[in-house]
Amino acid sequence: MEHPENDKSYKGLAVKSGIQQPPLVNPYLKPRKRRSLPTAGELVEGVLKGDINALARGVTLVESIAPAHQQLAREVIEKCLPYSGKSRRIGITGVPGAGKSTSIDVFGLHVLRDGGKLAVLAIDPSSERSNGSILGDKTRMEKLSQHPDAFIRPSPSAGSLGGVARKTRETIILCEAAGYNNIFVETVGVGQSETAVHSMVDFFLLIQIAGAGDELQGIKRGIMEMADGIVINKADGDNVERAKLAQAQYRAALHLFPTPPSGWTPEVLTYSGYYELGIKEIWDMIDRYFAFVEHNGYFDERRRQQARYWMYETIDSELRRRFYDDPMRAPKIAEAERLVLSNRLSPFQAAWQLLDS
Ligand code: GDP
Repeated sequence: MEHPENDKSYKGLAVKSGIQQPPLVNPYLKPRKRRSLPTAGELVEGVLKGDINALARGVTLVESIAPAHQQLAREVIEKCLPYSGKSRRIGITGVPGAGKSTSIDVFGLHVLRDGGKLAVLAIDPSSERSNGSILGDKTRMEKLSQHPDAFIRPSPSAGSLGGVARKTRETIILCEAAGYNNIFVETVGVGQSETAVHSMVDFFLLIQIAGAGDELQGIKRGIMEMADGIVINKADGDNVERAKLAQAQYRAALHLFPTPPSGWTPEVLTYSGYYELGIKEIWDMIDRYFAFVEHNGYFDERRRQQARYWMYETIDSELRRRFYDDPMRAPKIAEAERLVLSNRLSPFQAAWQLLDS
């Protein structure tokens, strides 16, 4: 069976090739040829029909670093763009162990109960696929991964955060064009990547767990400021009291923050992903948020701001790439570096010379 993940250019979760096969018994059965690249039109047609294979191939192209693939991916995205935008994009973050995958599994099923489709994407610039945490991994979301209306995709493989995030941002467009009206973007709550996720979602959910009294320790203020909702997981068994205490502390802490530009005061709820308690309450909150920001215009405003962000982000990364990837410039860079290292040229002078060249 062909897996798009086995495309040579795909840097992600490789599907193991399995045991060695015995020679063919039937000599007329020739091995299947490697598929040639589809045209943008073919892919888009498949995506718009909601064909999951076309979608997966499109996403693989988006993630590819081969110039031919990137060119094709850009065409596909451009053609899909008019059909995108009609979804609820929800960012979900939390430290490893907070219960993201357990929660996304039940959140996902809850959302799909009303029909529609759900795509779960991830941004994890830190993890190489072979080791470390694997966000958006199908095996971590057992029930959801078997759901016919769920599309789960692990993080584009490690690279610069901006690059990884941009690929996820582009994947959202393809998913929306394929009719996914709910998008979850998962990320590890350790800093950096939250900003990237925040720049592509409508609602940012922070999953916390009750610690041993020092609830607010270790949580970056910036992440809390970005959150539209904070939910305290594992409020079950003898942990309920501690979760309630944490809830009170978060509420008190949030009072000290200025009102966010949305005008929405982030809510703090407790729940148990494992025992599926309090899930409806979380989704009622998210519904309230969407009603609120659609009414006051912030929903559109936030998306406009995000579009602007991605324009500059793309220019930034593309300028850098073009500068460093220019084969004519490479020897000059090496030479300048030598001069700087041997103190014969100031770093500033070197930089200006290279930029002007
Ligand atoms: P992630 O690293 O954030 O994706 O966290 P996981 O979803 O893998 O959960 C980490 C651990 O916490 C697992 O052992 C889960 O079984 C456990 N866990 C997740 N949610 C709950 C919950 O609601 N209650 C309890 N008691 N344990 C939970």
